[in-house]
Amino acid sequence: MRGARHTRIALALALGCLVVLPALAQAAPAARYRVSGARWPGTTIRYYSTLDSSWNWSLDHAVASWNSSGAAVRFVPTRSRASAQLTIGLERPHGAELAHATVGRHAGATLRIGSRTARTTVAARPFTTHLFAHELGHVLGLDHVPATASCTVMTARLLPACVAAQVPRAGYFDCSPLSIDDVRGAVRLYGGRVKAPPLRRPCAYAPLPPALLRVTLQPRSSATDVGTLTWVAPRTQLGTWQTVVERRTGPGCTTVAKVWTLAPATTRLLDAYRPADSDGAIPAGPVCYDLYTRNTAQRTSPRRRVTTTWSPPALAAPAGISLREWPASTVDYAFSATLPDTASVRVQWGAAGACPATVDEGTAITTSYVDGLGPVLLYVPTGPGCLSWFSVDPSGAESTSAPTQLAITHADAPPG
Ligand SMILES: [Zn+2]
Repeated sequence: MRGARHTRIALALALGCLVVLPALAQAAPAARYRVSGARWPGTTIRYYSTLDSSWNWSLDHAVASWNSSGAAVRFVPTRSRASAQLTIGLERPHGAELAHATVGRHAGATLRIGSRTARTTVAARPFTTHLFAHELGHVLGLDHVPATASCTVMTARLLPACVAAQVPRAGYFDCSPLSIDDVRGAVRLYGGRVKAPPLRRPCAYAPLPPALLRVTLQPRSSATDVGTLTWVAPRTQLGTWQTVVERRTGPGCTTVAKVWTLAPATTRLLDAYRPADSDGAIPAGPVCYDLYTRNTAQRTSPRRRVTTTWSPPALAAPAGISLREWPASTVDYAFSATLPDTASVRVQWGAAGACPATVDEGTAITTSYVDGLGPVLLYVPTGPGCLSWFSVDPSGAESTSAPTQLAITHADAPPG
């Protein structure tokens, strides 16, 4: 094992060691990269990984960041362990060590990642990617450099601020851990040309979740539902996404009126009309449903939209109306009536034989409630007339019933 040298990396945070970063302008240029291993011959380094596929995401991103750096060398996976120049695998960590690798050209070169400290979870992927990129830098022949403000990947300690790279938008992270100085070191060994910034680029934490299939909307099955949505749930990436259904209303369906978040196994949704609920009352007009999937990184699949036109169900007119005239000196009539659930009553007055056909403020009769009497009518004109009784949907004035008409002759004054 002559010439073999292992180098180790520790996490600054784990050691309780906070590094004070010097200003970038004060960092000595010569210390920004260090070459200590022999370069590999040719332009490729064949590697074989014994890691299970849950590590692929981080390893692939680390490999890609070196392969696209501009240095004239590439890491290439091989299916044959015998032909591999580098083997990558897990190892039980020693102390604070997270990973280690042989430095530069070396027979039986290895890269070992700590089985306990490195993680394959979505949230840990940027960190694990950084770790792989650091160790691959050793494999290329690079040694540690002092910490600088440039977040060089080849520092001996991973600086949390450099690993927790800025997230440009939800579900993405800065997936290229290399700095210009890291690439300069590789170009010094292998030739090529340092690719100009931006080396750093946003990568998605997770692939787009799968889109829902065969989304349909069956028309309403009763007076009190908008319809039934059905769809086929894809069988891929199971356990990583949920189904989201948005009910949208208004012109252009721009208003999100209600959102359902459903388990992936759900493939059917009946949207009932509940005028008493704040999100169950639906104004007449277009109704759109947007269906999509959303994963744990908040990425969403393409939307599938189905559209219908909604008209609220016809309200039943007031029934069983009974009137009691002059139950008290200040009250014209006490009344009772049977109304649909959640509806309120409106009463309109007209001359005899001219019952109002619609609700109209100009002829409205004042209704009130008096303890001991119940609902009452006030200020009813005397003499012969006609009362039209309407049920009114509380969710909006656009929904009223047909009138129930009742001829009356209101006496001038209370008897006695
Ligand atoms: Zn190292």
